[in-house]
Amino acid sequence: MQKPVFIGHEIYRHSTYGRWHPLRVPRVSTVMDLSRALGWLPPEQFITSPRAKPRALTNWHTGDYIAALQRVEETQETTEEDRARHDIGSVTNPVFPEIFCRPATAAGGSILAGELLRDGGVVYNPAGGTHHGMPDRANGFCYLNDPVLAMLSLRHQGVRRIAYVDIDAHHPDGVEEGFGGDPECLMISVHEARLWPRTGPIENDGGGNAANLPVPRGFNDSEMALVREELILPKVAAFQPEAIVLLCGADGLEEDPLSHMALSNNAQLDVLRGLMGMAPRLLVLGGGGYNPWSVGRLWAQVWGVLNGLEAPEVLPEAAEQVLRGLRFDGNRRGKNPPAHWFKTLKDAPREGVVRSEIRESVALLSRRSLP
Ligand SMILES: [Zn+2]
Repeated sequence: MQKPVFIGHEIYRHSTYGRWHPLRVPRVSTVMDLSRALGWLPPEQFITSPRAKPRALTNWHTGDYIAALQRVEETQETTEEDRARHDIGSVTNPVFPEIFCRPATAAGGSILAGELLRDGGVVYNPAGGTHHGMPDRANGFCYLNDPVLAMLSLRHQGVRRIAYVDIDAHHPDGVEEGFGGDPECLMISVHEARLWPRTGPIENDGGGNAANLPVPRGFNDSEMALVREELILPKVAAFQPEAIVLLCGADGLEEDPLSHMALSNNAQLDVLRGLMGMAPRLLVLGGGGYNPWSVGRLWAQVWGVLNGLEAPEVLPEAAEQVLRGLRFDGNRRGKNPPAHWFKTLKDAPREGVVRSEIRESVALLSRRSLP
């Protein structure tokens, strides 16, 4: 059995969406640095992400849109059409120096992942997970949609049955645009109710292949455990996928500034553990996550779990220094970070009451007939 592959790139270390944007914080570089500091990332398991060619991107995106992104990167200016049609240059989807290269690198990694998984295996592309990107426009910090491109890449390799599981705090409206109604793709999303983009209500079955579970604020570890055991794992098992794509957003963690969920990082890791081994191919993508410590601590552990490695209770000095080197300017959470954000990767569990509305929603979705 081949070892899991980590796809990364140095472009993410200094690239930022701008001083006030939630994506001003480093994320992928933290995961790489922590993994190396822990001795978890030998060179033979690391692949430098290729940058996707425009032609590969137009497998799903429009040629006009890709050309616009390239031109805006070149000129650092937008036209009226860029703004009106493609939503490039808005507050959410700003112009920044790597506006084409960075998303094209994340997408190139996800496309490569589909190729690497042809005969089976495990691939991790933490820069991937831009699940809001639309064919002709940027959406919700996402210029491209690498999960869709990854699944198209898998299909190109002959992999038909794909289970897409998304535990980011936001509903994957772009992925649903791409794969809604596809009977060989099972889509399960757990997301915060009434949070942007406000799509993915429970009634929406995506055209027959989606289970959308909006969850209330304060969603805790015990509630996620119920969702995992009663919805996610049984539905994926029944589907018998040839590949699983897990979008493991870190914005459902309690200390994330953009959502109001209350998970500890154990909750996401337990979903990952549950899915491992359920299909011969597993691709794990990043996604949202806007607190630099919680993103780094969760996503480094994702890589550990994929390799059967547990983080030590107390981090070695080199790993602690990676976390101490992070800054979270412009957010109160950056002022006096708690010691455990530096000293350990594992959160204390955040268990709680399982609310009846969640039980009812899970029961409803369990009865839904899905692919
Ligand atoms: Zn999100």
